[in-house]
Amino acid sequence: MPQRAQNTRICRDCDGFATAAITTGTRHADGTRATLTITCPTCKGTGHAIPAAALTRTR
Ligand SMILES: [Zn+2]
Repeated sequence: MPQRAQNTRICRDCDGFATAAITTGTRHADGTRATLTITCPTCKGTGHAIPAAALTRTR
């Protein structure tokens, strides 16, 4: 199993998938599915995050 490089700035919470469409199961009047788009709060939908090393060097 390939190990991810330490310096990649992929968000750990969403693993790079910053947005996810959730099917609610309901449909709109025109027949299309009603979906909710969830944006990762950690990376604000960018899929990238600040490296943990930068956070630990605040002192
Ligand atoms: Zn994220």
